[in-house]
Amino acid sequence: HELKTPVAIQKSTLQLLLHKPRSNEEYKAGLDQCLRDTERLEDLLQRMLRLARADQWAAGDAQPDLAPQLVAGSCEDSIAGLKPWADSRNVALRLVPDGDVRVLADADDLRIIWANLLQNAIQYSPNGGTVTVKIERETGASQAVVSVADNGYGIAPDHLPRVFDRFFRGDRSRSRETGGVGLGLAIVKALVEAYGGNVSVTSEPGRGSTFTVRLPLAPGETSPSS
Ligand code: ADP
Repeated sequence: HELKTPVAIQKSTLQLLLHKPRSNEEYKAGLDQCLRDTERLEDLLQRMLRLARADQWAAGDAQPDLAPQLVAGSCEDSIAGLKPWADSRNVALRLVPDGDVRVLADADDLRIIWANLLQNAIQYSPNGGTVTVKIERETGASQAVVSVADNGYGIAPDHLPRVFDRFFRGDRSRSRETGGVGLGLAIVKALVEAYGGNVSVTSEPGRGSTFTVRLPLAPGETSPSS
């Protein structure tokens, strides 16, 4: 269904355009619309491919050789990428880093995890909101703990168990014209679990949400002095 809808929209845009002779302006507007439809479709396909790859790893397929990544650096990259959009919505982004926490992961995958959580936190925050990314080290469990907290709209208790489901979208997302497709959190969960970690959420409607990602520390990272 999720793939069929954008393809059907694109088809009807083209059919409408070909239905009768049109002015250059109308053709241009129609092509612009088609381009936007194609970009959404491209984004959706990329997300589904990521998800399929994470599923294959979880099912035991070999992962590529992974180098230790600085969590703070990759969070900074994701924050920098989203800052212009956050500024335009008047949402502040804060990072509380732990300078040398490292995990074994693909750098792109890490950025996707933080970016998806940040995008939601910004999207579901009101004007003047603050999103805080906090990095910690749980020495006992040898885990890096990264939380992304917003003081936004929050999630209804009956939606909370479903937010990580593929294609689940809350009312606010469904009503958005250019809304997401409900794959962001499913991708976060699949990637985090493929790396042997987990992701959880707490939320209070009207007060905000906190998503917490736990990933195994890279070897040699188990104590602060090492
Ligand atoms: P979407 O593309 O709809 O953002 P996601 O998988 O990223 O899909 O999120 C699923 C749903 O979870 C969203 O539609 C929204 O209802 C809810 N959600 C996710 N993150 C937040 C958040 N930080 N605050 C409030 N609701 C959220």
